Parts: sequence; C-alpha cells; structure tokens
Amino acid sequence: MSKNIRTRFAPSPTGQLHIGNARTAILNWIFARHAGGQFLLRIEDTDRERSTEASEKSILQDLAWLGLDWDEGPDKGGDSGPYRQSQRLGLYSEHLDRLIQNGQVYPCYCTAEELETRRQERLAKGEATQYDGRCRNLNASEARKFQADGREPAFRFRAEPEGVSFDDLVRGTIAVPGEQLGDFIVARADRMPMYNFACVVDDHRMQISHIIRGDDHVSNTPRQILIYRAFGWPLPAFAHIPMILGGDRQRLSKRHGATSVEEYRKQGYLPEALINFLSLLSWSSASGEEILSVPQLIREFDFTRISKSAAMFDAEKLNWMNGIYIRNLDPDAFAERLLPHVRQAGYPVPDAAALKPMAVLFQEKLETLSGIGPKIGFFFAETCEPETAEAAGVIRTESSQKALRVFLKETAAMASIDRAGFQALMKAVQTASGVKGKDLWMPVRIALTGQEHGPDLAGAAEILGIEKCRKRIESAIAD
Ligand code: GLU
Repeated sequence: MSKNIRTRFAPSPTGQLHIGNARTAILNWIFARHAGGQFLLRIEDTDRERSTEASEKSILQDLAWLGLDWDEGPDKGGDSGPYRQSQRLGLYSEHLDRLIQNGQVYPCYCTAEELETRRQERLAKGEATQYDGRCRNLNASEARKFQADGREPAFRFRAEPEGVSFDDLVRGTIAVPGEQLGDFIVARADRMPMYNFACVVDDHRMQISHIIRGDDHVSNTPRQILIYRAFGWPLPAFAHIPMILGGDRQRLSKRHGATSVEEYRKQGYLPEALINFLSLLSWSSASGEEILSVPQLIREFDFTRISKSAAMFDAEKLNWMNGIYIRNLDPDAFAERLLPHVRQAGYPVPDAAALKPMAVLFQEKLETLSGIGPKIGFFFAETCEPETAEAAGVIRTESSQKALRVFLKETAAMASIDRAGFQALMKAVQTASGVKGKDLWMPVRIALTGQEHGPDLAGAAEILGIEKCRKRIESAIAD
C-alpha cells in the first residue's frame, strides 16, 4: 500500500503572505489534492517578537481567498494538533531532553560575542566558520564554572563528521560534507526551539510525507536530516522549489512591484488567475497548456515537471492571464467581482445587478478589476469634460463641431435611445453632416465619455440615456 500523502504549509506569521510563499502553499495543496492526501497548515510562531495574531489571520484569509482549503490547521483542529508552534513548547522540550540524555545535544555556554569574535578570527585565516566545538566536550567542572559565572547554556546538536546526502525530488542528489554542517543550536537557553528543531519534531509528529518548500531552505535540510536520524525517525521526501526572480533576474522584492497576495487582491487579480500563474512558475503541464483551471492543475500536477532553474515573475504574463480569466467570467459573476473595485474608486452603485449593464461593456478590455476606476467614472458624472488636451483638441475641429451640432439636431425629438437607435442615429448624422468614420465617432465619444478610448459607444449611450447624451453633446459645442 502506498504511504498516505501529507503535505503542509508552515508560514511564520511575521508579515503578509508573500507571493513566493503563496506559490509554496499552492504547490503543497495541489500535490496533496492530486494524490488524494491531506494538506495541513502549521503556524511557526516561535519568534515571539515578530509573530503577530494579525499576520496569522491575514495569511489564513489570503489562503482562503486563493481558494485553498486545509484538512488540519489552527482554525480547524485535527489529530496532530495544536497547529501553532507556540502551543507545542512542552513537546519540543520533551524531545530536547531525549537528545540531551543520549548525548546528541550538549549545553553550549559560548556567548554571542565570543562566537562572533572567534568566527571573525577564523574568517581572517580563511578557515571554515562553523562552530569550533568549544563546548562539545566540556567536563563537569568546566560546566560548573560557566554556571557559576551566571551563564545560561543554549543547546547544541552534535553533527556527524561524515555529512549528509539526500535525494531531492526537484534537485536530485544533494551532498553536504560534515565540515560544512558544524554543531548547530537546536534550542535557546530558555528552551525555545530553533526553526530546524521544531520543524522536524512537527513534521514527524504530523506525519508529513512530502516537504515542499522554497530552496532558500535547502541548506537547512541536511541539519534537519541529522535530527531525524538522532531520533531514529524515517525521512520524509524533500522537494525544494526554485526561487522567483524579478525581470532583472534579482530575487523578487518590493522593487519589482506588488509582492504580497493582499496587494494583488486589492489590485483586482482573480484568485484563479493567480493560482494558475503561480503554479506555472517553475512547473509546466505535460500538455503545454498555460491556461489551466484548478481541477486541471490538480489532475496534471507532476513532480518530475518542476524545473530546477529559477522562475521569472513576468508581470505582463500575469496581466494577460488575468484578462483571460476576467473574460471567462459570466456577466453576473463579473459584475459581482467588479463591484468592490467600482466602490473603491468612489462610485456609488447599489448592487451588482445595477452595475452589470455598465460592467459588461468593459469586460473584454480589463486586465485587472481595479483598472475599472479611471474608465467607468463618466457614467456617474453629471457633466463630462475631455480628460486630455488632445481630446479637447479633437472636439474643437470644424468637422467635429459640425457633427456634434447635427447630432443635437437629429436627437431633438428623441425620447429615448438604445443601441440600435444609436447606430441608426449615427448613420443619420453622417448623412446629414457629411462627416464620417473616425472624424464622426471620435468627437461623439469624447463628448459622451471624456476619453478617446473606451467601451462600445452605443452601449454606453444606451446607459447614459438620451437626456444625458444631449446635454454632453451640447456642452461640447463651442458657443
Ligand atoms: N516557517 C518557515 C518559513 O516560513 C517554514 C519553512 C519550511 O517549510 O520548513 O520559511
């Protein structure tokens, strides 16, 4: 029988959900769902100074917004809880004692300053900078002397000189010689566990079968493996996924634009587009398809297709993809999703049903939902001025003015206007004024919307209504 697949996402709640971590969460989730296994959420909040409840809450919200669900987690419970490391301190302490008792972990009395001074000295001599083993074999009287000096020991793991080698599902065999590892701290003097220690205890107790995380953790894995060995625990599988780079091939950071899921949500990216886009960073489907729904992603996911090389974050591609997802929404769903962005831009719309007729006019062209802000305002304004000097110039030409005057005359007796009526009207204006094509449509568009580019004009005129249309044309005619 194949082993039960269990993956986890283990964020530290010290800020918002970063786009790189979101990708890690997505791959863990997709793989668990692909394999019919479980996906767990664990909050790594042992850094009490930097961890906040607000951050944990926002991370959970962002994951849920992306459409991820977890089988076990801090808000859900489960058989291997609690799921916050701060609530598991007793467990780490017990495990620490086990390793102290069998001599695998020893107390280290070196202070941070001493360690740093010795590190600098070795650096200057061109030597390896790992822990020099000063406290490795202290005898009882040496230890007592340190204690008498008031020193509180941290807890250091005795690394094996032969090193570690493991098979990474993405990167293949990774071998790290013992001298690169050095003895490392697993818990501070107050017994607060370090990341590597708590992570291993939890991954084992939570029966995680696959550890999928960013390759910034690849250097931690050999140390974690030593801890597994010290306890005699079986190893999970490891998969380190390549980092995400910005367009300049530097690690993705604020300089490249939005980096948190929250920012993308606010800008009006659809969660399904973001999932699709993020899962294709360093992974591709066998079919070569790029637009993949969540069920397709889950079906087609395959570890062997994760690339070793760093992934490029191509913002234009994300916009393109988001545009496709926007166009694929049915009009009601589109209006529903657009509504908060229209309100955010300051336009009062009672509900999605009221927005829908306007919304659909923009659906084809939007790349992000927040892009609606500057486009839709003309519907809500009483009057409408050309938004640029160029646009103002266009309506001032002789032929434009002529067309606008004829427009006004032809609509004098009209009580209402719909799309078909608007098309017929424009034909009549063309015949009567002799102005046609762009020379006719552009001044009318600018008069009605203030902009040279915009939605289907007949549809916009229908929503504005005949009265507003006439008023706007009138005010565009020079006295
Ligand atoms: N809390 C760690 C992080 O956010 C988890 C790393 C891991 O997945 O082991 O980077």
